[in-house]
Amino acid sequence: MFDVAVIGGGVIGGLILRELSSYDLKICLLEKEYDVAMGQSKANSGIVHAGFDAKPNSLKAKFNVLGNKMMPKITAELGVKYSNNGSLVVAFSSEEMQTLEELKLRGEQNGVEGLRIILKNELQELEPNISNDAVGALLAKTGGIVCPYELTIASIGNAMDNGAELFTAFDVCEIEKQGHFVITAKDGRKISAKLVINCAGYGSQKIANLIGDYSFTIGGRKGEYILLDRESGHLVNHTLFFTPTKKGKGILVSPTVDGNILLGPTADEVDFEDRSTTTNGLASVISKANEMCKSVPHHTAITSFTGVRAYSDKHDFIIEESSKEKGFFNCAGIESPGLTSAPAIAKYVVGNLIDKALTIKKKDNFNPIRKPDYFFSKLSMEEKNQIIKENPSYGKIVCRCEKITEGEIIRALTENPKATDIDGVKRRTRAGMGRCQGGFCQPYVAEIIAKVNCLELNDVTKNGKGSELLVGKTK
Ligand SMILES: Cc1cc2nc3c(=O)[nH]c(=O)nc-3n(C[C@H](O)[C@H](O)[C@H](O)COP(=O)(O)OP(=O)(O)OC[C@H]3O[C@@H](n4cnc5c(N)ncnc54)[C@H](O)[C@@H]3O)c2cc1C
Repeated sequence: MFDVAVIGGGVIGGLILRELSSYDLKICLLEKEYDVAMGQSKANSGIVHAGFDAKPNSLKAKFNVLGNKMMPKITAELGVKYSNNGSLVVAFSSEEMQTLEELKLRGEQNGVEGLRIILKNELQELEPNISNDAVGALLAKTGGIVCPYELTIASIGNAMDNGAELFTAFDVCEIEKQGHFVITAKDGRKISAKLVINCAGYGSQKIANLIGDYSFTIGGRKGEYILLDRESGHLVNHTLFFTPTKKGKGILVSPTVDGNILLGPTADEVDFEDRSTTTNGLASVISKANEMCKSVPHHTAITSFTGVRAYSDKHDFIIEESSKEKGFFNCAGIESPGLTSAPAIAKYVVGNLIDKALTIKKKDNFNPIRKPDYFFSKLSMEEKNQIIKENPSYGKIVCRCEKITEGEIIRALTENPKATDIDGVKRRTRAGMGRCQGGFCQPYVAEIIAKVNCLELNDVTKNGKGSELLVGKTK
């Protein structure tokens, strides 16, 4: 019997699990996919928002500003890349300059520090590639960027190192209350837990419905992106937003923590988790990026992808005990700024909701530190040589674009939460994330996966069952 079962291995479930793992509790995470970080937390903008967007007194405003403040410490503990690059909301007319004043005021009401409106000259100094049509901007020094799936994987890995259990391919399809909760997966596996936390993102309405909770609905809004190669990484320094209109924030142009440039996302309603990219969607990303910056090097695009926002009809985060069942908690409708808010949401859920439902006590031996080694290419020659001396597999480069070594891939396959397929290795190490998008290294990665996991090459998958790469031997 588990004390707490968390449903959904995104950044919300991941950071809640990590927070729970600092207490003397038996806990688990149930994820329907073959790996964690497969929903919204895999494909988003990766912006650590300053907190001027959300309506004052909303949960979004409260957790955004708190989460923004917590992000430097939590990413340092988890060995996750984070940069405090600052953000700029750019105005292209005097009416938009007026909107910036309103945004600044709203940000100050929300508790955002260091907001400043800047004029054209200063904007051009900060961003030499900004369009000549831009007239000013709202500068938010506390804005930042983070890698969302790295944060999710690291928080779940750290929780597992501190005793949490992970069940993947566990698609929750039934929840019964028999004093405690009995949670059943599609394949028949069962887990018992005293408390349940529903962090299932797009699936959170379905999970709530399983206990008869119909208090909210979840809709999908897809966002398409284009990622530019690192050679274009100099395009912008800050995260650049358009001034929001009634239709929303529009697309952004931003550096990523890995030195690429991200363009997007679009915003189109969908009635299922539609992760396709479209000609029209990508064309509108290109056209808006051209309005923001001079000579965007679109020819350096290395990939495109789509994320689906899971928004609720409540227009705010839903973070509460369900009125239908004691001991069942919903963390639903966590759309943007959910990534930024995640550390603060996790603290609140465990410290204000779970601690009222269970007697909980801090562990004496909780270790908040997770040491990364996927910054190997950034080490000095001396440091690299020392590591290679101890473990020669670090001397063999497998992914040439990102300079990822065999040692790093083996580590991704053996440390918590273990990668089991090629995309899992990619998200943990960046092997296959560079200019050739795995064209060169994928067969080598597949061989390493087969060797470490004692599999036939035919059984190695790209992303879970049904995505096998090879069908058999040729002569
Ligand atoms: C296009 C886009 C851009 C965004 N940009 C930003 C940004 O720049 N900054 C920011 O702060 N926020 C941003 N967000 C919001 C942020 O990504 C989300 O708030 C956050 O990732 C939500 O995390 P989650 O854990 O709630 O959901 P998810 O990451 O979606 O995780 C839910 C998990 O539950 C699992 N699941 C679903 N059903 C079941 C089931 N039946 N059984 C078991 N498991 C199940 C899913 O497989 C998934 O892994 C953006 C979102 C999108 C889509």
